[in-house]
Amino acid sequence: MTTSAPVAFPHVPTPHPTPDAQRAGLLADPGFGRVFTDHVASATWTAELGWHDTGVRASEPLSLHPAAAVLHYAQEIFEGLKAYRQPDGSVALFRPALNAARFARSARRLALPELPEQAFVDAVAGLVRADAAWVPEPPASLYLRPFTVATEAFLGVRAAEEARFLVTASPAGPLFAGRDAGLTLWISEELSRAAPGGTGDAKCGGNYAAGLAAQSLARAHDCDQVLFLDAREHRWLEESGTMNVLLVTADGELVTPPLGTILDGVTRRSVLELVADHGLTAVERPVSVEELRAGCADGSITEVFATGTAAVISPIVAFRSATGAFTVGAGTPGPHTLALRTELLDIQFGRVPDPRGWRVPVALT
Ligand SMILES: *Cc1c(COP(=O)(O)O)cnc(C)c1O
Repeated sequence: MTTSAPVAFPHVPTPHPTPDAQRAGLLADPGFGRVFTDHVASATWTAELGWHDTGVRASEPLSLHPAAAVLHYAQEIFEGLKAYRQPDGSVALFRPALNAARFARSARRLALPELPEQAFVDAVAGLVRADAAWVPEPPASLYLRPFTVATEAFLGVRAAEEARFLVTASPAGPLFAGRDAGLTLWISEELSRAAPGGTGDAKCGGNYAAGLAAQSLARAHDCDQVLFLDAREHRWLEESGTMNVLLVTADGELVTPPLGTILDGVTRRSVLELVADHGLTAVERPVSVEELRAGCADGSITEVFATGTAAVISPIVAFRSATGAFTVGAGTPGPHTLALRTELLDIQFGRVPDPRGWRVPVALT
């Protein structure tokens, strides 16, 4: 299913760009995920031709046959990454190769065609170049949403032989605007998000559809998000709806559940690579909900936070569940959480040196 020939994304500018004044108005307060730029990157795949009809072109509504496989069997994968305005006006991506590799892994799991990793990065960079005027000033950024959907019109159940890859871009402020004081998570003791052998480690729309009922329960209990537990014992921490979860212990460890049924987050991985500089030892091991509850009560767990491209690093200050509520530490964001958040944002926005080479500049001309 892989094409080895290089895939280029030539730019055909939209004949109807958003007027400058209107764009400036939209960028002044973009919110999250509701403003979209003028262009998309696009590629079509068929079993016969492989990837073709590629380009960066006007963003417009899709035309799909009512029998398109994605509409019935959720054969879909996606990614999320951001373009960051740098102090000198240039624009950089953050570790896009990790998103490209994960997108290819998700494609294999969902039996969708794999886009070559370089083509993924080229498509994203090509779109950022076309819509460079849409990259907002910090603290906002341009959120990029690559995705592949099965477009074949066919109601039998098998891997589709036609698919479409698109990248859409959305200038976005913080995901949890106004929640700087920290998030409260609802511990989902019944509804699970992923099971061993399932799709929990793929970034696919179906995982999100399956998590929405738990998220509604969280909302109904006045919580910001869900904490999912493992499907077998309903005991082991997995992750939040859209974020990985990490704990800081009093004896200087940064503990997070191991990969397997959770998403291999770029932010999670980056934090695990940064923490040694913060005097913490990164540990990936299972954590039970009893350990979380007891550790928060006796002070052996001092901080909890969640990571994701959209959420960056979000402090978690309290948990609720059907069996009770508890707070983390003093119920306010902890010092390691805030220091890691500042460091990560400084790297992403180009305010500090980048010895690890995580920033990838986008050539704007
Ligand atoms: C995307 C996502 C994350 C965060 O991954 P990042 O690469 O850090 O953005 C965490 N959990 C789930 C379920 C996700 O879909």
